[in-house]
Amino acid sequence: MYSKCGDLEAAREVFDRLELKDLVSWNTIIMAYAICGFGSYCFGLFSDMVNEGHEPNGSTFVSLLSACSIAGLLDDGWEFFNSMKRDYGVDPGIEHYGCMLDLLGRAGNLERAKCLIEEMPLEPTSRIWGSLLSASRHHRDITMAALAADRIFSLDSDNTGCYVLLADMYAEVGRWEDVQRVRNLMKKQGLKMTSSCSLVEHNGRTHNFKNHDKSHGESYAVYEVLDILSRMIGEDNLHSSGVSKLKPAVSLKARGNSPVFHSVRLATCFGLIKIARGETVLIRKNVRLCEDCHSTMKRISLVTKREIVVGDSKVFHHFKDGRCSCGDYW
Ligand SMILES: [Zn+2]
Ligand SMILES: [Zn+2]
Repeated sequence: MYSKCGDLEAAREVFDRLELKDLVSWNTIIMAYAICGFGSYCFGLFSDMVNEGHEPNGSTFVSLLSACSIAGLLDDGWEFFNSMKRDYGVDPGIEHYGCMLDLLGRAGNLERAKCLIEEMPLEPTSRIWGSLLSASRHHRDITMAALAADRIFSLDSDNTGCYVLLADMYAEVGRWEDVQRVRNLMKKQGLKMTSSCSLVEHNGRTHNFKNHDKSHGESYAVYEVLDILSRMIGEDNLHSSGVSKLKPAVSLKARGNSPVFHSVRLATCFGLIKIARGETVLIRKNVRLCEDCHSTMKRISLVTKREIVVGDSKVFHHFKDGRCSCGDYW
């Protein structure tokens, strides 16, 4: 439970106190380190587990491959993937292929990723094609993204996230006709955009923020802090400089959805005000963190010297000293 909410220290404490460590508890702790991007810790834990006489199962390899994927360890990933069957008699399942696809996607090897899907002895699911779609988004390969999205639509026509991602990619390069085409497809399926929200807990109460939200009782203070932080990290300059890396922000801005007031920033400011120094600010988000907010969160962690954890729909991002545990791929 602790590992799921991103509190690694608490998870480790619970694990260390367990008198009888069974396979499930080993798998859980390895996964806890994996989702936080601590690949080498996972490998150490895996050795300890095997040395204590536990036979790894499919879940163990999901944890290990996730660790490789999140930490971008391609060679280690292939080694674990190949050793599953060879050394432990575990057949790779769909989730193991998913991890390998994330790994290849992170390395920018989209062609190899596509080949792996085509070579799979299992029927690819929409999640599998979703990994290729995410990778294509990350590397701005719109042709590959359209191919992956096409496969997803044929398997899972009400995958809102996929429509949104594809539309955003077209928007980034100013292909507004394609944006409209994807939106129309969504409409035809009767789908609506999921509105983004971020949650932060304080004193046992959950505070919910939406994009551009001003409904919270302490909004005034939240926006004040956000304004100060934006200036501290030089956000205004960056936003108007037209740096190519920030293109998505610029195009989103043009569409009236400036990331400057995205929910995660509002929740973070609230957390920074309320949560005592030295304690981690923990945010939960229902959709994927956008690139612009990701880069802003890194800079906020640097200027405030605070540790901020954001669990989005895919991964936990641990922001500390201007860096993120996901290594900028999620
Ligand atoms: Zn954002
Ligand atoms: Zn991250």
